[in-house]
Amino acid sequence: MSAAPDPKVYGWCPGALRPMMSGDGLVVRIRAPLGRFSPEQAQGVARLSQQFGNGLLDLSARANLQMRGIREEGHAGLIEGLRVLGLVDDDAGAEARRNVLVAPFWSEGDETHRIAEALSLALTAATDLKLPGKFGFAVDCGTVPVLLDIAADIRIERNSDGLLLRADGADTGLPVTAETAAKAALELAHWFVDTGGAPEGRGRMKAHVARGTPLPAGHDRRALPHDYAPIPGPTPSGILAALEFGQIDAESFALLAGHAPLRLTPWRMLLLEGVSTSVTCTGAIFDAADPRLRVTACTGAPGCPQALSSTRQLALDLAQMLPGDAKLHVSGCAKGCAHPAPAPLTLTATARDTFDLIRNGTAADRPAKTDLNAFALRRTPDLLTQD
Ligand code: SF4
Repeated sequence: MSAAPDPKVYGWCPGALRPMMSGDGLVVRIRAPLGRFSPEQAQGVARLSQQFGNGLLDLSARANLQMRGIREEGHAGLIEGLRVLGLVDDDAGAEARRNVLVAPFWSEGDETHRIAEALSLALTAATDLKLPGKFGFAVDCGTVPVLLDIAADIRIERNSDGLLLRADGADTGLPVTAETAAKAALELAHWFVDTGGAPEGRGRMKAHVARGTPLPAGHDRRALPHDYAPIPGPTPSGILAALEFGQIDAESFALLAGHAPLRLTPWRMLLLEGVSTSVTCTGAIFDAADPRLRVTACTGAPGCPQALSSTRQLALDLAQMLPGDAKLHVSGCAKGCAHPAPAPLTLTATARDTFDLIRNGTAADRPAKTDLNAFALRRTPDLLTQD
């Protein structure tokens, strides 16, 4: 293994009211209600991002929108602007608790929509609920679940009999209805805390269940296993637009919002609500065969203070040259933020323009090759696949 320093683990996520300092200024994360921006909200966010930040917007793995490069002295003005747009909670506690990921294919008044609204309201009001910083909920009540691969601690989904409330990591859950789901979800969150799921304020449901903690009574109905792989392009709910590395410039974001309300997804894609005709926007990818979809890369240097090298240009250059259907993750350090799960090929920076190669592993796993130079990789991409 390389001698690169261990990455720092924060244990909490930035919000709008509690931003996080990064290499290029503050990161401000907006938790849009129901994961949706009206065209006016999206265009307002685009303007604020240009006024107070560097005009770049990131889509997080929990379907939140991050504004980057926010100047510290501009934070108060930004929050005021977001408040006018209806995009800020009353306080940082409510913002942190209202960590609800909503499957993006909902329709007005359906179960996903109603439960997500009820749960968001209940969490905002639950001032007695002290959850770990990353603890989150997924509302995923379409015909089949689409968020099973996305991190969430408490899930409301559907099995063959109806709606099911499930602790992450458990194979079984509690039958609920659209009317009872939000209350039952809060009870399960209290159960997690009361049964020792978060000693010292940290912990996740999956680990708590894996330790053999007996589930509450009634959590005995089988969940529905289901694989879902989103692809950019038309869906019955609108067009999915993928973003290069999950990032879009403010101008392109405003342009897309000129077509429709925008729904955020955890797949680094935006759903253009209800749009069925083709859309042109250089900042978005609508073609599933686009080579940029075969690479992931974190912010890297200089945007992330922990990065040991830049990442994205190398990933873009290599995307064109990857053999077959190979997929590549380029990480600025061993933390692997952009792709925490194993990837077929991972390049982990150990120094400037120097990478370890990991095959079928995560950014922190044992490398198959060490000290690969970025220029050599561009010249000889076979280094990725040949011994
Ligand atoms: S993986 Fe990338 S974004 Fe995450 S801490 Fe390391 S360098 Fe920063």
